[in-house]
Amino acid sequence: MIKILNTQGISGPVLCCDVCDERIDDFGLGAAVFSRSNAENSLTPVFIVHKGGCHDAAERKIRAAGLRSGWEELKHHFVYLLHNGGVSPESFVESSVSADRIGRIR
Ligand SMILES: [Zn+2]
Repeated sequence: MIKILNTQGISGPVLCCDVCDERIDDFGLGAAVFSRSNAENSLTPVFIVHKGGCHDAAERKIRAAGLRSGWEELKHHFVYLLHNGGVSPESFVESSVSADRIGRIR
């Protein structure tokens, strides 16, 4: 889940785990877990989770509903999301420069 964190005079979006609700501050430690479907135009929810126990819990929840689960690295998932939302590499770089001026929320 995306939340807004206010700290040290800066506020901005951060990701929190859909299982434990703790912040995922390193995307290398996160995963996007979802149910697999071959149905045309199907839309399935995505669990944004920590790897490890939270990942396992999300997969158990999907399988308990009788569905097949899949997952991908969180950093790849967000690149695909930006691409599917029409964000070009050039506009991403431009936005990154603006974000660098503000600073990273720790
Ligand atoms: Zn978690």
